[in-house]
Amino acid sequence: MNKKQKKMLTRIILSAVLFSIMKLLKIESVLGSVIYLIPYFLIGYDVLIGAFKGLIAKVPFDENFLMAIATVGAIFLSDFNEAIAVMLFYQIGELFQSYAIGKSRKSITALMDIRPDYANIEQNGAFIKVDPYEVEVGTIITILPGEKVPLDGIIVEGRSVLDIAALTGESVPKEIDVADEVLSGSVNISGLLKVQTTKEFEQSTASRILNLVENASNLKSKSENFISRFARVYTPIVVYSALALASVIPLINLLTNSPVELSKWIYRALTFLVISCPCALVISIPLSFFAGIGAASSQGILIKGSNYLETLAKVKMLMLDKTGTLTKGVFAVNAIHHSEDDDNLVMLAAYGEYYSNHPIARGILEHYGKEIDEGRISEVKEIAGKGIVCRYQGKQLAVGNEKLMQQLMIDYQSCQSVGTIVHVSLENEYLGHLVISDVLKENTAAAIEQLKIIGVKEIYMLTGDNEKVAKDVAERVKIENYHYQLLPDDKLEIIKRIIKEKAENQKLAFVGDGINDAPALSIADVGIAMGALGTDAAIEAADVVLMDDDLLKLVKAIKISKTTLGIVYQNIIFAITVKVGSLILGAFGHADMWLAIFADVGVMVIAVLNAMRIMFLKNS
Ligand code: ADP
Ligand code: MG
Repeated sequence: MNKKQKKMLTRIILSAVLFSIMKLLKIESVLGSVIYLIPYFLIGYDVLIGAFKGLIAKVPFDENFLMAIATVGAIFLSDFNEAIAVMLFYQIGELFQSYAIGKSRKSITALMDIRPDYANIEQNGAFIKVDPYEVEVGTIITILPGEKVPLDGIIVEGRSVLDIAALTGESVPKEIDVADEVLSGSVNISGLLKVQTTKEFEQSTASRILNLVENASNLKSKSENFISRFARVYTPIVVYSALALASVIPLINLLTNSPVELSKWIYRALTFLVISCPCALVISIPLSFFAGIGAASSQGILIKGSNYLETLAKVKMLMLDKTGTLTKGVFAVNAIHHSEDDDNLVMLAAYGEYYSNHPIARGILEHYGKEIDEGRISEVKEIAGKGIVCRYQGKQLAVGNEKLMQQLMIDYQSCQSVGTIVHVSLENEYLGHLVISDVLKENTAAAIEQLKIIGVKEIYMLTGDNEKVAKDVAERVKIENYHYQLLPDDKLEIIKRIIKEKAENQKLAFVGDGINDAPALSIADVGIAMGALGTDAAIEAADVVLMDDDLLKLVKAIKISKTTLGIVYQNIIFAITVKVGSLILGAFGHADMWLAIFADVGVMVIAVLNAMRIMFLKNS
């Protein structure tokens, strides 16, 4: 509990005790009435002030206002018990709610543990601790065992084991050595590391993730927007209806010479006010989404806003990129065909791919394994979905697929093997091709199976790779619809077409590795970046980021979103049923202030408890 909450708890206990003593002493006289105002003001002064401030600011219709008129009205009717009880329970409800929000914020800030406090820099033989903010790119920092990695960088000295659980939700330690990348937010477990930073603090993984999560509640879901719009219209209606209830019937009675019973109708109007307070919904719905985002982030799933959490729950169609999404994106060279000098072919391919970030490029460079002399290459152009064209010692070098060869009108040899084919040509002379291949991720097939079980009806694979590879992968993971040899634009066209044809409430998700899939990620109803940990473009373009490479996390994300949305709907139905029921009883005079208190505070507490269940989803 924080200070504010403790203060509130003290006020609640004090006024409850005071109130009980007065009841026990049976103080009922006129003097007694005044004494009853002490616990009333003690418990309710901030509500009264809030209501007054709202009036002055001309935005009166909030919960403070409802509670203030209800209790002040009760005091005028000399119903002190009710006035104090309404305030007391209202404050108990508020305290409870603030505690619940604090709790769910904590579960998110457990993730916030990744915020690094300092970086060690060596100066004149001694370490000094500096604010990571002030460390420039390229600085060598030292990370001792047990310390958090403050900035993204590359290891220049030392080896160790990293705990990346705070980033990915997976507690498998990762072994690292010289030249490996380290991401801020992970924890150095065993050895001393010297790391050369590659990013500023702001651009480092930990900062970016934190920014993302902190801003997540800014993007409101439809249900949240609906509730706040609803409250804005609904509360004034309730207040005016209460006013009508308190005045119209007594007025009719007055005109028809029946007994006026003014206080009876005022009491009913006040009861009506308390019952109709929309707190339960106004509070529990954002809390539910907040808790859902928190539960997801503790599993290494970043959801950028409640709206995306809501959309995820309605995903019926899924489009998946192949390389890096279904497969590991780690290519091995399997064969070399039609070449007179294999070493030369590999060398040229490696030089062509030197500046590319494509998984194919990394595979080929790995295979080549020798130093690259950057001076030999110039004018590098990467053509998305085709390959690379550049100049190698002034000569035109092309490294890519059939489409690239066709574009350059080079006479190439096609290939019968199953695999991704990388053709190489120099000055329009065909030199042969490499057959490279990628492996499926362990969980791909299982994830596809479970996605079908949880209601994703149509699954498509979209790939720029050739037909043979596409068919092979699709068959192995049981994806019925696959499209191959697509340029990035073709992928967009397919997504656009399906979005146009589908029903509005059937949502389409696109899952990609995020680097070259940015347009597709942004056009889908919800764009999901896979294994994007540390890659800039992906975290930016996607709506949902699965921090490690595991497609099963998508299943989890959808499950969390469905549970969250389910609980939101339960709360809406429950609150509205109880409130409408109590209002009907109230209109017929069968509801008193005590029922009203239950309908308001009781419903709110139950709704909040229900919402808090979401936070425990991570354990399932
Ligand atoms: P995917 O849809 O499988 O992620 P991309 O759109 O990234 O594929 O690429 C499609 C195809 O374009 C690849 O299968 C490959 O044939 C070719 N290609 C793209 N980039 C390169 C590159 N850097 N080197 C060689 N070939 C490439
Ligand atoms: Mg790709």
